[in-house]
Amino acid sequence: MKVLINEQEFEVSSPITAYDALKEAELISREVLAANVNGNTVALTTPVKEGDRIFPLTFKDAEGRKVFRHTAAHIMAQAVKRLFPETKLTIGPAIDSGFYYDFDSEVTFGPEQLTKIEKEMKKIVSENLKIERFVLPKDEALALVKEMNEPYKELLIERIDEGEEISFYRQGEFTDLCAGPHLFSTAAVRSFKLTSCTGAYWEGNSNNKMLQRIYGTAFPTKDELNAHLAAVEEAKKRDHNKLGRELEYFTTSDVVGQGLPIMLPKGATVLRILQRFVEDEEAKRGWIPTMTPFMAKPDLYRISGHWDH
Ligand SMILES: [Zn+2]
Repeated sequence: MKVLINEQEFEVSSPITAYDALKEAELISREVLAANVNGNTVALTTPVKEGDRIFPLTFKDAEGRKVFRHTAAHIMAQAVKRLFPETKLTIGPAIDSGFYYDFDSEVTFGPEQLTKIEKEMKKIVSENLKIERFVLPKDEALALVKEMNEPYKELLIERIDEGEEISFYRQGEFTDLCAGPHLFSTAAVRSFKLTSCTGAYWEGNSNNKMLQRIYGTAFPTKDELNAHLAAVEEAKKRDHNKLGRELEYFTTSDVVGQGLPIMLPKGATVLRILQRFVEDEEAKRGWIPTMTPFMAKPDLYRISGHWDH
């Protein structure tokens, strides 16, 4: 059958997965993590059909990065369940800088636990576990997560419409309710680092239970991971919030509000020098200032669309 790969026509066997289609077209390499088929990101194990438009995705593509790092989140969750079996799973998406997973656990995760979890993750990567997708109808999906004793997953499934297939991913002894897609083995996630742990409410709602969110990041190679971690350290050194306080430019007070800087003499001087510079430049260039009130009647903000915010 004919498929389009990178907008070029290829003759491939049928039936066939995205991976094998790319292989027959000699477009597969270790860098390929997933595929975009007809506009959807899918795992390489997904079957493709006549006329499908296929694009291979690597770590350089945002979608490819997402698949890679979301797989890292599953590996972290598996490690947490191995070390702290009583922990309840919630959700674990990929984000711009890496990934996180929110856990409900009696154990407080600190640096010591993160080191242990990282070690277990390395083990899971070296076990080269196949990541398999399976789907269940809603009632069977509910029965499965009940058996797994994962109450948050139950809540998530209850919201899915009746009649829809519910997908799970299994790697070794670990199974997670998830829309996917994923890499096809844990082996590819060689370079990762757990970076921090914070509190996070279930579904971001402060009326709900406080969970523990572990953040991490993952890269295909050690060099890329190290470069990223070094860049984060450099950025920290240049953080205006840290520098501004150290140099006594500003301070903050809980009574006034965090994020509302109180300018100290040095900071206020810098501000006034900048202000004078801007005013002189404006005058030089022939701009004439006007002034408007700080506040106006609500009608103005209704017209501008700001009122609702
Ligand atoms: Zn997943």
